[in-house]
Amino acid sequence: MAFQTIHHKTSPVGVAASHLQSLSRRDFVAGSALIDGRWIARELRDVVVDPATGEEIADVARCDAVDMNSAIAAAERSFSAWRGLLPAKRGAILRSWASLMREHSEELSILVTSEQGKPLAEARHEISYGAGFLEWFAAEGERAYGETIPSHKPDSLLHVRMLPIGIAAAITPWNFPVAMITRKAGAALAAGCPMIVKPAPETPLSALALARLAEEAGVPAGAFQVVVGDPVELAAPLLRDPRIRALSFTGSTEVGRLLLESSAKTVKKVSLELGGHAPFIVFDDVDLDKVVKGAMVAKFATSGQDCLAANRIYVQRGIYDAFVKAFAAAIAQLKVGHGLEPATDIGPMTKLSVAEKCRAQIDDAVTRGARATSANQNAGLGPRFVVPTLLWDVTEDMLITKEETFGPVAAVLPFDTEEEVIARANASEMGLAGYVYTDSLRRALRVSERIECGMVGVNTASFTGPPIPFGGWKQSGLGREGSRHGLAEYMEMKYVCFGDLAA
Ligand code: NAD
Repeated sequence: MAFQTIHHKTSPVGVAASHLQSLSRRDFVAGSALIDGRWIARELRDVVVDPATGEEIADVARCDAVDMNSAIAAAERSFSAWRGLLPAKRGAILRSWASLMREHSEELSILVTSEQGKPLAEARHEISYGAGFLEWFAAEGERAYGETIPSHKPDSLLHVRMLPIGIAAAITPWNFPVAMITRKAGAALAAGCPMIVKPAPETPLSALALARLAEEAGVPAGAFQVVVGDPVELAAPLLRDPRIRALSFTGSTEVGRLLLESSAKTVKKVSLELGGHAPFIVFDDVDLDKVVKGAMVAKFATSGQDCLAANRIYVQRGIYDAFVKAFAAAIAQLKVGHGLEPATDIGPMTKLSVAEKCRAQIDDAVTRGARATSANQNAGLGPRFVVPTLLWDVTEDMLITKEETFGPVAAVLPFDTEEEVIARANASEMGLAGYVYTDSLRRALRVSERIECGMVGVNTASFTGPPIPFGGWKQSGLGREGSRHGLAEYMEMKYVCFGDLAA
């Protein structure tokens, strides 16, 4: 099979810096943290870089454990008034926050692309997706119904209410620096809980800009705070303090395990959105064009830095050669470059370690006999760029089938039977998402039920959004975000038995 070579030009240095300088909202790059309704500047600063060029584009306050303790105390002070507001009033504030996000979508998108690297069109989509969680939970907070239980005791009324759990903390990742905050904060605030966010150090600007807009929307002092700085130093007070009743984390399984273990000491309610290793299963009765389009989205959205990314693409032998050829042709069309360049499909990896992991997986697969296109073509681009690469004839002994990639490297493996592919798809400790492409309804029902994961796309690669319960099985996480279930992560049940009611 012959494949097209991809040519790329070097990105212009300074593009992100100049975009940031021309932002109408200069306060978005002021770099102070929001604690107790005050914008805190610190002499110690952490640098934010444009991952495409490595250039320093801003700096932000380096807060410490003392600051985090102040944030916890402020959250405690704000709790009673915030939980005391009518849900409709909290909803109105969340809706106003979402409107401000939409109004400032372009500035926010530029921030996201500048510090995270994703193409601007994807950043714009993230702002809308992120605002959608605030709007969803604004309404869902008004529907936090309790229940009345038919009594098993005479002259009694059994009543259950859903009440806010207390102060919530969020530790968020860099791949969706806006939406992973609003998905957590929307739910927490709608439930009546103050939230403290510790964003990823790679993407603090997006989080701080969200905090500016939250303040403008009327979220009171202490109810939503963003504290930036060293992850371990800032996490310690959150984990130790018994007043933090809920902890929501999105990131790697490795760090998730650590946080779960540390939360055990104060028995916090922990929700975890962790790593994925999604199987993408293609049966040979499918429409080739549709499945290739789906595979492109499932693999290359967010430049592959997506926990839903198709990490193991299993293709039934009858369509295998045709799929590989068509998929390779589609991959060859992808444009790699700076996210602020309009033609870019694939930006840099936000973290150098992710780019290195991609390269190690490619080298390992090729050494073990996989075939590849596009490898070693990233000369001229910075070290965080990974040229989209297709690996096929991949086998289960290769690193890429054992660990998450989190970059634009696609692994294709042939299979023969339904039983076999289900067993291979489930041979993973991860269980976030899966994909099934088939024209048979019966098979779609069977396979989607048997894949061990929290979310399945049948004949589609786009299934996320505020109404769906986002979350994983096995070591991909605990709890759900979005949907009505996302609200429950921040609520406790209160059962009250009214007895002796006879006249
Ligand atoms: P990471 O776990 O290193 O970082 C995530 C967050 O945890 C960041 O805010 C970071 O500063 C913080 N952190 C890191 N070490 C910490 C520690 N010892 N104590 C406290 N906080 C700490 O992960 P990453 O490399 O930034 O992100 C990539 C991983 O995240 C991937 O494996 C991906 O699958 C996963 N992820 C999952 C989802 C999901 O929804 N399930 C979404 C995005 C990313």
